[in-house]
Amino acid sequence: MFEPSAQIDSLLTAVSLRQSASAGMRAMMQRQAEFPTPLVARLTGIALDPNGRDVADQLMDAYWSDEPRQDSILDTSGTDREVIIGSGFHAAVYAAVRVLSGHPRPLVLERSDRVGGAFAMTTRPTFYLNSRNRAGNAGLAGDQRASLNYLPGAPIQASALSMAEYQTNSDMAFVIRLTLAQFADVVTNAEVLSVSGDRSEVEIDMDSRTTLLAGLVIDARGLGDPDDHDIANGETILTFPQFMQRMAGMWPLRGLRRVAIVGSGDSAKCAAESFLGIAPQPLMAAAALDSVDQIDWYSDELPTSCDEWQQDIRGRYQAIGRYLRPDRLGARRLSVLSRRARPVGLPGAALIDGRPAVESRHPRARRRDRSAAVEGRPRQRRPPLPGRPGR
Ligand SMILES: Cc1cc2nc3c(=O)[nH]c(=O)nc-3n(C[C@H](O)[C@H](O)[C@H](O)COP(=O)(O)OP(=O)(O)OC[C@H]3O[C@@H](n4cnc5c(N)ncnc54)[C@H](O)[C@@H]3O)c2cc1C
Repeated sequence: MFEPSAQIDSLLTAVSLRQSASAGMRAMMQRQAEFPTPLVARLTGIALDPNGRDVADQLMDAYWSDEPRQDSILDTSGTDREVIIGSGFHAAVYAAVRVLSGHPRPLVLERSDRVGGAFAMTTRPTFYLNSRNRAGNAGLAGDQRASLNYLPGAPIQASALSMAEYQTNSDMAFVIRLTLAQFADVVTNAEVLSVSGDRSEVEIDMDSRTTLLAGLVIDARGLGDPDDHDIANGETILTFPQFMQRMAGMWPLRGLRRVAIVGSGDSAKCAAESFLGIAPQPLMAAAALDSVDQIDWYSDELPTSCDEWQQDIRGRYQAIGRYLRPDRLGARRLSVLSRRARPVGLPGAALIDGRPAVESRHPRARRRDRSAAVEGRPRQRRPPLPGRPGR
């Protein structure tokens, strides 16, 4: 095992000095002998205690966004340094494996102010991952003794953070963030615009920052931005990340009666779970106040009946299928409409086929709450980073 990095060390000290945040860490120290090292026991205790995790998350954000620290890291870059673009799961895997193989800590450039990539799109849990929560090392799908959400080298694994059948995005995000705190120097709000160079030297152009030199660049920018993000307006038509941001806030479904989902992938399925109330519980939301009556799901790739759903769809998303069945009075909350749709955003409404995708329950709520169709379509393939003109 490894010694904690300076960032992890200062995080442990800061948490232990706060009585309200350190209860989980102190409790877990009683079971220290069951962990590989005291460091793992302390980090697991912090992660399992909501107050401890909250404080740890804030400390990491403050550390990564500290401008003097960012400046001094960027000043020391050179051709002996590895730079990773993006701070998601793959950045964390690469950083951990490289450092544990004896290489220096890589520099991670993250365009947003939040480290952790797709799983960290919200600080609160908003969606479940799609592979089962199992202890153990990495393995192949179908291997009952292997964990598919295993992050090699991580200080703690996501399987140590809950007993739930499926992990939440924020559990995985916390593991990714701790891994980067241990094995990388991260600079946030650093968007890479272009990369150019040859085998011995690479120049990295960033938005509003000086050009950086590196010996090797790892492109870990993920799958790309949501397809059709140009038609999303964030209010009546939302991309999946925008919708998840909404689900992380207070009363996310307030006033909504009828909604639409467009697309068939995991993002669309997670959006359906949020509308049906089978996703992680949102903050301050209650079925008595804010449940959605009708969900129209536009996809020509999904089953339209409960029986077909049970046969065709993987276990993780089986619970959705029962809402495709009419209740005893013949009403169905969820309908799959076997066609593609392109919503049109108007002020205060989203239209599909010329009719509103959203109806609000109360006139007052309609004015206040103008939500809409969720675009759960696949992501665009990330374009190659352009070289700089003239090189
Ligand atoms: C609903 C859902 C469920 C999923 N379930 C699972 C699961 O169970 N198991 C699993 O393994 N995977 C799952 N995935 C897929 C998983 O999210 C991705 O495989 C994983 O996040 C990819 O990691 P990444 O590091 O490649 O990219 P990302 O996590 O997308 O991170 C890329 C990072 O790069 C940054 N970036 C982009 N461009 C730039 C730039 N120019 N300059 C600087 N930074 C930049 C972005 O801001 C982002 O932080 C799921 C995805 C979804 C949507």
